[in-house]
Amino acid sequence: MKLHEYQSKALFAEHGIPIPRGRVASTSAEAKSIAQELGSRVVVKAQVLVGGRGKAGGVRLASSPDEAEDLATQILRMRIKDLPVRKVLVDEAVEPVTEIYLGVTNDRSANCPVIISSSEGGIEIEEVARKEPEKIVKIFVNPHLGLQEFQARNLVSAIELPRAHWRDFIRIARGLYDAYRATDATLAEINPLVITKDNRLLALDGKVVLDDNALFRHPNLEEMRDLDEEDPAEREARKYGLSYVKLDGDIGCMVNGAGLAMASMDVIKISGGEPANFLDIGGGASAEKVAAGMRIIIADPNVKVVLINVFGGITRCDEVARGILSALEEEKPDVPLIVRLVGTNEEEGQRLLSRANLITVSSLHQAAELAVATAKEKSAG
Ligand code: GDP
Ligand code: MN
Repeated sequence: MKLHEYQSKALFAEHGIPIPRGRVASTSAEAKSIAQELGSRVVVKAQVLVGGRGKAGGVRLASSPDEAEDLATQILRMRIKDLPVRKVLVDEAVEPVTEIYLGVTNDRSANCPVIISSSEGGIEIEEVARKEPEKIVKIFVNPHLGLQEFQARNLVSAIELPRAHWRDFIRIARGLYDAYRATDATLAEINPLVITKDNRLLALDGKVVLDDNALFRHPNLEEMRDLDEEDPAEREARKYGLSYVKLDGDIGCMVNGAGLAMASMDVIKISGGEPANFLDIGGGASAEKVAAGMRIIIADPNVKVVLINVFGGITRCDEVARGILSALEEEKPDVPLIVRLVGTNEEEGQRLLSRANLITVSSLHQAAELAVATAKEKSAG
């Protein structure tokens, strides 16, 4: 789950990180009154859960409350990377002299949190990482010890931060690390962390991604979830307890068990195709869940064919077959469905499916080859 910038910054402030004064608004009139309250030039910022708002025109400076109102009207009408803007953050504008990057995430190969920083922060950080990787500094943190003083010092000196800012920067790095740990985040990022013209360090932008599997420990954070801003397919999947990840290919996949789902995607790829999604309907999946899964898959316009691979262990094949049938009744998909259904109650499942307009096969290999061939045929035609 991603937090909005205004939510991330509020979290940062709780951990002692300085942020600009400001508030979030849902209407342009509100934006105007916040600008009046702040009594300074302001920056009006689209609150959407994707990066690159600045480049998309979603971050604009206003020199008066009227201008803030105008800009808010414009920004609230925007869609950024296909997400609607429903809120804007109105912050006091500052004059950044230096833009620094500071982030914490998990390093899966090092098996520990890593603090990443660069003197070349701002909207081109991805470019910096690609072209000048030496400008990106990493400090691995032992989770039992936390960020050590010497490590923090190594970090500030590696990014060549002027000495006058060391103390504040180290306090901010600690605060960010604490915020990351306290919320079970998978990412906590300030980009840019700026040195202002009047020599203050301020977190100008914030991004926090929380670990969904740990959210049960943080009911207060769960409440911050912005349903409007989530991908409808992922929201629907969560509602039914399905694990769904959208991918770029054209072969929809519905599989029971994460391992089998991964294996199915591998076999599709080996057969020369590209999966459109990962979808695990789980063990003991009910007909209702299967129907929801089917709906989600065929709602993706890229999907040209659906491969259903079910190994009935706890999940009974007849139950899955009923789910597929009810989904077919409701949705009437116009893409071919290829089904491999084996295991518990297989005969009953097959018998139920024989009434429907499906292609049943007996091995995953066969299913994948056929799915790939079908997808290719449809792209050619
Ligand atoms: P992002 O593009 O979604 O990452 O949005 P940011 O909040 O990081 O803003 C993008 C850029 O806008 C920053 O890197 C700054 O250069 C600029 N910016 C943001 N806030 C201010 C501000 O208060 N004053 C000025 N002058 N520039 C700002
Ligand atoms: Mn940013």
